[in-house]
Amino acid sequence: MTSHLLPAYARANLAFERGDGAWLIATDGERYLDFASGVAVNALGHAHPHLVKALGEQAQKLWHVSNLFRIPEGERLAERLCAATFADLVFFANSGAEALECAIKTARKYHAVGGQAERFRIITFEGAFHGRTLATLAAGGQQKYLEGFGPPLEGFDQVPFADLEAVKRKLGPETAAILIEPIQGEGGVRIASPQILKELRALCDQHGLLLVLDEVQTGIGRTGELFAYQRAGIAPDIMAIAKAIGGGFPLGACLATGEAAKGMTPGTHGSTFGGNPLAMAAGNAVLDVVLAPGFLDRVRRTAILFKQRLAELKDRHPAVIAEVRGEGLLLGLRALTPSAELVDELRAEKLLTAASGENVVRLLPPLIIGQAEIAEAVAMIDRACTRIARAHDQPRKEGVVG
Ligand SMILES: *Cc1c(COP(=O)(O)O)cnc(C)c1O
Repeated sequence: MTSHLLPAYARANLAFERGDGAWLIATDGERYLDFASGVAVNALGHAHPHLVKALGEQAQKLWHVSNLFRIPEGERLAERLCAATFADLVFFANSGAEALECAIKTARKYHAVGGQAERFRIITFEGAFHGRTLATLAAGGQQKYLEGFGPPLEGFDQVPFADLEAVKRKLGPETAAILIEPIQGEGGVRIASPQILKELRALCDQHGLLLVLDEVQTGIGRTGELFAYQRAGIAPDIMAIAKAIGGGFPLGACLATGEAAKGMTPGTHGSTFGGNPLAMAAGNAVLDVVLAPGFLDRVRRTAILFKQRLAELKDRHPAVIAEVRGEGLLLGLRALTPSAELVDELRAEKLLTAASGENVVRLLPPLIIGQAEIAEAVAMIDRACTRIARAHDQPRKEGVVG
């Protein structure tokens, strides 16, 4: 198979033709249960009728006008996001990394216009993932992603994840902000407790720092709250979101309080495509569904049921599953056998999942799943684990016999 795609991804040899709710139909006609959701993007599953209708109607009217003009759909989406969160202002971008670029610039500019331009450093956490642009790679600090791309952008200080004492030790006169994922997704479904988020908030208040949250993966209902920070009873100053907000249409956003965004005046930032009418229609349609009464209650109930069933699977397969992690429908199975093997065996069962750090397999089903999809997924995981346990047991048994 020759391909002219830049080989930056290690792709599975599998392609899809269409989707239907939590299911994807491959080009060979096989049906797959999609518990990867395009990496937490397809929160409402595939071909959701409300999203299809909203995007179709917008596509008939207007695709792009640029930010030289007002975009009423965007004003409406920004107003709704602010009404549902801590924020006063929203900047629309096209991806998670772009949302974070805006967040980082906003935090630095806040101090600069406050007369403290020397405060530009941001404390970030080991295991973080903030995107693949040069600034967000530097923020994430993963050596394997930075390697060979020249000197990383200056101004990020990394400490062990959710370690308050380490944060305090790193704080200096140049520190501008703390940037954290409430749950590290790529890092292995690692949770920052409500307590640590409260403590980071207090530390920021004490030292005049901005608290910046990366809710690109955790946002828009994934954890059972609209945003993960809400379970901690705190509010950030700045927050980057993306992934699920577009329901599959590329859309990112940087949310901020008026105070935190005080440096972001006309001309300080921009994006040609950001906030285009198609993306705004998709975002508004996603909010119509996710903010409807009862939707998040149902996500929470579904999540509890799924987590219970996963805990049973862990007990049934102690040689394969070490731990069930996560909140809401951002769940992870820490494997004792290689996680890549578990992902492959699950795909053989026609269940799609996503690998992450710490040998964890992420389960990121669409938020619309119900008991039937959970039952199917659990049966698939059960069979895959049985096969893996047997395969890993085999050599030992043969050894005993021989
Ligand atoms: C996916 C992700 C990003 C990057 O988003 P892109 O759209 O790929 O640029 C940033 N932060 C977190 C927490 C993510 O999960």
